[in-house]
Amino acid sequence: MIDKQYLKDLASRRSEHGLVLTACLSTSRLDDWKQTAPTFLKSEFSRILREQALSKEVKRGLEEDLRRILEVATYEVGRESQGLVVMADGSQELFDSVQLPLRLKNKLMAEPYPHIRPLVHALSLMEPFVVVRVSRDDSSIYVVDWWQVTHEDDFTGPYLRSGDRETGEIPVKEYFAAARQESLVDLHFKEVSTALDRLLEETGIDRVALCGQHDIAAWFRRGLSQRTAACVAAEISCDATASPAQLLLGAREAVREARIAEMEKLAERINEGLGPQGMGVAGFDQTYAALARGQVQTLLVERGFRPKGCMCEACGHIQVDLANSCPSCGGQVTPLDDALSEAVRIAVLQSSEVEVVERVALLHEMGGVAALLRFK
Ligand SMILES: [Zn+2]
Repeated sequence: MIDKQYLKDLASRRSEHGLVLTACLSTSRLDDWKQTAPTFLKSEFSRILREQALSKEVKRGLEEDLRRILEVATYEVGRESQGLVVMADGSQELFDSVQLPLRLKNKLMAEPYPHIRPLVHALSLMEPFVVVRVSRDDSSIYVVDWWQVTHEDDFTGPYLRSGDRETGEIPVKEYFAAARQESLVDLHFKEVSTALDRLLEETGIDRVALCGQHDIAAWFRRGLSQRTAACVAAEISCDATASPAQLLLGAREAVREARIAEMEKLAERINEGLGPQGMGVAGFDQTYAALARGQVQTLLVERGFRPKGCMCEACGHIQVDLANSCPSCGGQVTPLDDALSEAVRIAVLQSSEVEVVERVALLHEMGGVAALLRFK
């Protein structure tokens, strides 16, 4: 699991005497990746050497970096892993690999900075969330990160906690009479919601999926603090026979849908703010100009949008058109396989929020990239 600080560190690792080699590989079990990855990497590497005019020294450095990357392709990855990003640059002793829960397109890149876009995507799309399963007398809170449940708290209501449970003999009539007493249920919900408040506070997680029978979930929801209630992103009905794994699958899907709806709203807000007086910008050039001025609060990026472009070696200017020299300073340019990745890297360096978006038509219409500004 990676975090924002890790990405920020990587975003600043410019190669001093050469280029950073980044490999993105799909390691999903559907792909026979250990067989295909080495061949793919070697052939891409030859292409890079062919296409870029590099000095002997830089080439030698890259060959060594490739050797180390190929070594990683012999390791085992976790069963859940779908993607692998490996970054290498011997000139600054950078060597790191990260397994991701996202499927990646196979790629090899040699660029001035590590190609961190897939990592940013994973952090944005796979944000951890909390699942609260509520019932009258027995509730649970789960924290889910990108792979699995990392934390679980179980709460037993006041009645079930009494001696009867220990002996295993619950007098049925008495149980129903008591468990349905509102005050006992309220007490139980109070305990769960207090723990939930604390958990959200401590972890900074801001999406909660509520699972339970609708009337029970609504009851629980009424007792939540305003702040916690605002974090409830989804509610799913809970089948008593559902296994925890099924429950989490349903919750993950519901949270994903809720996130898309949030991103649609954000795209609308940006779209309404376009124009000289507004707080929105859209399209690569405008968004990049706003980034260069440090104005971006939230960068919105379409997942599949990867425009080719180039970057000035002298002043760092990025553009999507291929040019022979920098239009801004006349300096030499390096080709970029994905110019938007550079914009993402700058946003990470500036501590802007980066949201990666799928299935939002409005963002596509705005050119695949847009931003909400923090100042004008
Ligand atoms: Zn320049």
